[in-house]
Amino acid sequence: MKLGKYSWGIGDRFAHQAAAQLSAIMKAKEAGVSIVPVWNKSNREHTFIHSAPSGTRAAADAAVKKLGWKDQYFCDADHINMSNVDKFIADCDFFTLDVADYIGKPAAADELAAFVNANRKYIGKLTIPGIAQPFDITEATLNAIGAKFLFAVKEAAAIYQHVLKTKKDFVAEVSMDEVNDAQSPVELFFILSAVAQYKIPAQTIAPKFTGRFNKGVDYVGDVKKFAQEFEEDLLVIDFAIKEFGLPENLKLSVHSGSDKFAIYPIMGQLIKKYNKGIHVKTAGTTWLEEVIGLSMSGSEGLALAKKIYEEAYAHKEEMTKPYATVIDIKDSRLPTVAEVNTWDGKKFSESLRHVQSNSNYNADFRQLIHVAFKIAANMGDTYIKALEKNEKIVGAQVAENLYDRHIKLLFAL
Ligand SMILES: [Zn+2]
Repeated sequence: MKLGKYSWGIGDRFAHQAAAQLSAIMKAKEAGVSIVPVWNKSNREHTFIHSAPSGTRAAADAAVKKLGWKDQYFCDADHINMSNVDKFIADCDFFTLDVADYIGKPAAADELAAFVNANRKYIGKLTIPGIAQPFDITEATLNAIGAKFLFAVKEAAAIYQHVLKTKKDFVAEVSMDEVNDAQSPVELFFILSAVAQYKIPAQTIAPKFTGRFNKGVDYVGDVKKFAQEFEEDLLVIDFAIKEFGLPENLKLSVHSGSDKFAIYPIMGQLIKKYNKGIHVKTAGTTWLEEVIGLSMSGSEGLALAKKIYEEAYAHKEEMTKPYATVIDIKDSRLPTVAEVNTWDGKKFSESLRHVQSNSNYNADFRQLIHVAFKIAANMGDTYIKALEKNEKIVGAQVAENLYDRHIKLLFAL
């Protein structure tokens, strides 16, 4: 299975927006950009929502059938590891092998030595075509990178081999984004050497990029530095494909990719400049569009949206805890429940929708609701029935968010 050049990871927590998401992908196709939709959902999300990969698969298949989509699409077992991969195997055909937790664990001495030996020829000045400044590589560089990443890549290979026992054809991604330190382009080059050494035919790789990729809000960091790193990563991958014999369609995967509007034009220009593909993984923000749609749908939906905020506000500690490293909420900027209860649908939806030029937009309010999807999950049928009753207005928000604010910006449509 060969993943198309452009692919988009779309999350759909409550499995009701697949058709709306697909309609945005189809709009892109009409505008001349073919994007492969990849419905991704992690084990953590499934646990919080009490859902299963079969539900994601069923929703994706139904949307594809309903809209008559004839091109590729996938279901991604997002951020899986050996402890939870089994329940994803039957329904998924894209596996994000998450090895972040294994970074820094010591590799076996003989394997580390094999890694250093395999890369010995790069000691000295390593010139990557397209990158002006050569990198200084010493034996110590190779040892340090091997010591940090080799065990993690081996673990990815073990998960890959495990899936391969039951499934012959699938796309493999290696992800190491959920860590604090960004991986440098040089590290990425030698990580890819290890990926090849352990025979993982990875088609996408998700490094941790420089800067903060907070959930549901814009990129925070040095945009110039990001641009340089992203460009070097593209060139590194190109060189690594040739040097190590990795799949020729291997490309970067940008996780927590929703809402990073500040870097979209940069990524768009650079992939165009080098004629490269990209995988952009967006996850849970679709659910925010659901809340926006509900708040606009009339008094009942608005009351439900307010109830979600009220609960989120009351259980803020509990809601934010699992996401502490990927959110940045300033309590002083959160509106009180009493204040929100005076809002009309316009004020509520504009406070939540990610349009930075709108003076009502409140990033803190948005982040808190973003991590509070458990509250909607606990509402059970009440929430799902509201989604179904307001399918049209909710779906319109989902499609607009994906196409107008994301796809158009990345591909300069
Ligand atoms: Zn990730």
